[in-house]
Amino acid sequence: MDSDRLVMTGLQHGDEEIETSLRPKTLREYIGQMKVKESLGIYIKAALKRRDALDHILLYGPPGLGKTTLACIVASEMGQNIRITSGPAIERPGDLASILTNLSHGDILFIDEIHRLSRSVEEVLYPAMEDYALDLMIGKGPTARSMRLDLPKFTLIGATTRAGQLSAPLRDRFGITFRLEMYSPQELASIVLRSAGILGMQADEEGIMEIARRSRGTPRIANRMLKRVRDYAQVKADGHISKDIAHQGLDMLDVDELGLDRVDRAVLMTMIEKFGGGPVGLDTLAASTGEDAITIEDVYEPYLLQLGFIQRTPRGRVATSFAYQHFRIQMPEKNEAGTQQVDFFSENT
Ligand code: ADP
Repeated sequence: MDSDRLVMTGLQHGDEEIETSLRPKTLREYIGQMKVKESLGIYIKAALKRRDALDHILLYGPPGLGKTTLACIVASEMGQNIRITSGPAIERPGDLASILTNLSHGDILFIDEIHRLSRSVEEVLYPAMEDYALDLMIGKGPTARSMRLDLPKFTLIGATTRAGQLSAPLRDRFGITFRLEMYSPQELASIVLRSAGILGMQADEEGIMEIARRSRGTPRIANRMLKRVRDYAQVKADGHISKDIAHQGLDMLDVDELGLDRVDRAVLMTMIEKFGGGPVGLDTLAASTGEDAITIEDVYEPYLLQLGFIQRTPRGRVATSFAYQHFRIQMPEKNEAGTQQVDFFSENT
């Protein structure tokens, strides 16, 4: 699998530096997600007025939509420090205990991929979130006793691509939950325009729109495409990004007008050609396309669902009439009636 592929929504080599420079620093600069911004703005003002820490916040949605950015904005709007870590990085309960005991009053602790915390680490988090306390076991065997240590009042911001995988006790301890939505092409155009300005690029409105339309509702992809188109423009057109240059640059990257890449097309064509439109189980799709199931579910599927090209049914994924139209393939009648002909799958819908 080519991990440097354009549509992969996780961080790639070279992203970090550019992401830091392009990250909006205030809520005002943060484009889109109007409902989230409005509520968050109110909560922040209220907490500042009370001189209190914010409630714990859970952010969920596909990768690259701005969860880390939002956490950093909350910290700066609250005038507090942020400590950034992730579920897989906190391996043992002791790792979390040492992070928690090093926090100061009002600090923001951001845990990315929080659904990947182990159960034993989660158990340390419960009293920390609820009572700002750390329960330590001292000694072993019959003489062991527990001791409670007070922690400073902090705000946990958890981010996840899979809210469904969070355990109920953890989910319940977040006072505020926001789901981030995919961005409209207009919002993405504003993001690309802003990024082009920061990076000192020259671009036509139409060139910007071309990038926005193909970036799958995801700011990280929009910024990454802008970078690649800039390279193309520098070689072919003195650096100026026009509609044609954006079009050609993106075509060369094998991303079609809707932002679909080779894997999206393989997923859809597998469903259509091998399985009569489905239903098809996630693992079967993964095996047929050579991708892993998690990548399909986290990276590819959200956008195909958003486009209305696939549907999730209890028996698996089904290609819709829009997908057939996109590939100019006649849709078999049996699928329009919603019946399935392949029956391998009861898993993972
Ligand atoms: P996530 O944590 O959800 O994977 P990030 O917060 O790392 O996503 O966002 C990826 C990049 O996309 C950021 O570096 C930022 O440049 C850009 N970005 C995300 N959301 C926005 C937004 N609302 N407005 C402008 N740029 C954004």
